Formats: sequence, C-alpha cells, structure tokens
Amino acid sequence: MADKNAILNRTKKNAEDNGYYVCPDEDLLKDLIDGLATNEDRYGYGACPCRISSGLKQYDSDIICPCEYRDADVAEFGMCYCGLFVSETIKNDPSKMKPVPERRPVEAQDAGMEAKAKAESGEEMPSPSESHEHVQVGTDSKGIPIWRCVVCGYLCARELPPPICPICKAKADKFERFSFG
Ligand code: SF4
Repeated sequence: MADKNAILNRTKKNAEDNGYYVCPDEDLLKDLIDGLATNEDRYGYGACPCRISSGLKQYDSDIICPCEYRDADVAEFGMCYCGLFVSETIKNDPSKMKPVPERRPVEAQDAGMEAKAKAESGEEMPSPSESHEHVQVGTDSKGIPIWRCVVCGYLCARELPPPICPICKAKADKFERFSFG
C-alpha cells in the first residue's frame, strides 16, 4: 500500500523546491493524494489522479505527477490541471481556482489507450518497445523512440515528443526523431 503521508510530504517538498504551493482546499488536497496513492498501488507509479492512464508507463510518462504540463499550467492559470500545485496568488485566494483546460495532446492519451487495448487482446504492441532482439535506429535499448529538441539538443526516450522541452521550453513541434546514424 502506498504511503499517503510520504506522497503528501514529497508533493509539498516538490512544490517548495519549485516555488509553488500545494492545493489550499484541504478536501481536494486529500482526494488528490488518495488518487495518487491509488494509482501508485494500481500501476506502480503516481499517474495523474485527474486523467485516464493507460497503465503502460512508457505511454503515461508525461502524466506521472508532477506532470510535464504543470509548469505551463501554473504559469498560465495559477494551478495545475488537478489543482494539486498552485501559485502564491491562488494559495492566498483559493476562490480564484477554476477549471484548467487540458494541455495534454489527445494523441498522447489515444496512443496509450490503443496500446493498452492491444496488450489486453494479446496483439502485438504498436511500438517496437516489446522487441528486445536489437536496438533500432532512433530508439533506446528497449525500442522506445528517442526525441531530440532541435533548439537545445535535449534528448529523451518516450513514445511521443514531450509537449514542452524541460530545458529550453521549446514546444513539441521542435522535437525530431533522433538517429544514431
Ligand atoms: S495535473 Fe497536477 S496532479 Fe495531475 S499530474 Fe500534473 S501536477 Fe500532478
């Protein structure tokens, strides 16, 4: 069973380290921590409690809390999609909390759900990630695609390019498949 106190403390520390605050609504905060604990137990990682997860980590990597969309959402709306992380303005006036539009590309969720359906039906996964026979060009040792930010050179292995480069903040369209050759 996931340790809810540990998740809460980890969340508070992460908020503090990044200049954010945790949700000022105590009931909502408790629900979100409960959701993260449930997902840790279910999937083995803390997938976002407000989104649909595939249960396949390589497809959910962008929504493991804190997700890749948090910083952009707090900057634009004062809070993340769930409201777990908030700005100082929202902390001081929780009445300003409002729904945050989904920033995650629908293709990311669709790709995960498609892979999950195929895995459950016994079909071959749509990506080469189950193949361990050899490393393909542009993939890591598990066959997961490697993406390169053309602005700063940041590399990451994941099914889809990240929505925002964590280093230079370039958008997803600035990523290209990386090739070793
Ligand atoms: S939206 Fe908030 S709670 Fe959900 S994963 Fe992102 S940071 Fe965590």
